[in-house]
Amino acid sequence: MKASIVTVGDEILIGQIVDTNSGIIAKSLDKIGIQVHEMLSITDNKEHILKTLSTLQNKVDVVIITGGLGPTKDDITKKTLCEYFNDELVYNQKVLDHVTEMIENFFKRPITQMNKDQALVPSKCEVLFNQVGTAPGMWMQKENTVFISLPGVPYEMKYIMANEVIPKLIAKFERPFIIHQTILTYGVGESLLAERIESVEDNLPQFIKLAYLPSPGRVRLRLTARGTSEEILKSGIKNQVEKLKVLISDCIVGFEEDETIEVVLGKILTEKNFTISTAESCTGGKIASIITSVSGSSGYYKGSIVGYSTESKVNILNVSQEIINQFSVVSKQVVEAMALQSQKILKSDFAIATTGNAGPNKGDSDVEVGTVFIGIATPNGVFSEEFQFGQPREKVIDRTVNKAFEIIYKEILKNY
Ligand code: ATP
Ligand code: MG
Repeated sequence: MKASIVTVGDEILIGQIVDTNSGIIAKSLDKIGIQVHEMLSITDNKEHILKTLSTLQNKVDVVIITGGLGPTKDDITKKTLCEYFNDELVYNQKVLDHVTEMIENFFKRPITQMNKDQALVPSKCEVLFNQVGTAPGMWMQKENTVFISLPGVPYEMKYIMANEVIPKLIAKFERPFIIHQTILTYGVGESLLAERIESVEDNLPQFIKLAYLPSPGRVRLRLTARGTSEEILKSGIKNQVEKLKVLISDCIVGFEEDETIEVVLGKILTEKNFTISTAESCTGGKIASIITSVSGSSGYYKGSIVGYSTESKVNILNVSQEIINQFSVVSKQVVEAMALQSQKILKSDFAIATTGNAGPNKGDSDVEVGTVFIGIATPNGVFSEEFQFGQPREKVIDRTVNKAFEIIYKEILKNY
């Protein structure tokens, strides 16, 4: 079973908006065992849409199209679908009632002709009801391909996908099972990791594939199994995970797809009843922002001092000017002082501190661009590590953030 996703909209092609719909659709199709074969983004142009539809005709089982269902002149997907299916637009009473209700009761204004026309759909289509907006989705079939057209607005698209499209696809098609298992690793680069797990990778059963999804400082490993017996897939995946655990247990921090190191850190802090705070220079508050993106972080996170300038390190974080003069702001001594001060001022059990030169220009320190110190204050003292994260700025910052999470997490796991 194969599907294609087509997003329609000039604004996508000029980079004004980023196509997030395709990823969301792909994920929900994947969950029910439908493999996405291709994603296309095309212009709001009749010929372009028609050509795309006929190219996909009988090549894939399902085509999901988003965008261009609105009432304005630039939205032409509906009319074009009508032309492709050699059909005509007719009013759908249920949709008309819903649009009328939405406009009159919710927006509290009289309904316009343009609003009413949202209820026009090709006569041969099955309407996919849109409870959260005015443009309905449409399901049409020609020969061996089902064409599904959805609004471009992400939350409307998501609503119709979940409530209409997925149940209908499940009912219509027999699908294989697809099972994924994510393994979240920190601290070892992609190629080194690949070397360490080579023996497992080279002996994977045919129905299991392994993918590497790297980002600065961390790698997600994803095992995917495809087949007709859910039981065989599950035990196959479990088996491989056990083998991988033996080889890389030191860098595995989680197994959930959405599990991140900040979530794992939150869990361990909560479990052990510890609090944490941060003093950030080169990361400018990014560590704080990530910690607080986890719901429940108020239970363990005390706060942050962004000591970006030398002045703020001295006046707010109470780092001694003498230490700074002697060792420079990017140094072991300063990062350790920052961590200890954060722990003291914010009254936390642990503190993370960062100072570095993310570039492109040198700041208040002469150290090489890319040099970063990460300091950790613990209930038993303080320590720090020096890194060279290279360039550019964005990478230096991201690697610092990920490394800081890795160090603190491993420290608590090992010693507390
Ligand atoms: P409307 O009724 O609001 O006009 P529509 O079905 O005509 O909806 P578009 O006009 O193509 O959809 O897009 C409406 C808005 O939805 C866009 O301005 C954009 O913000 C968002 N959008 C459209 N397509 C995508 C996409 N592929 N990914 C993410 N957002 C999108
Ligand atoms: Mg529109």
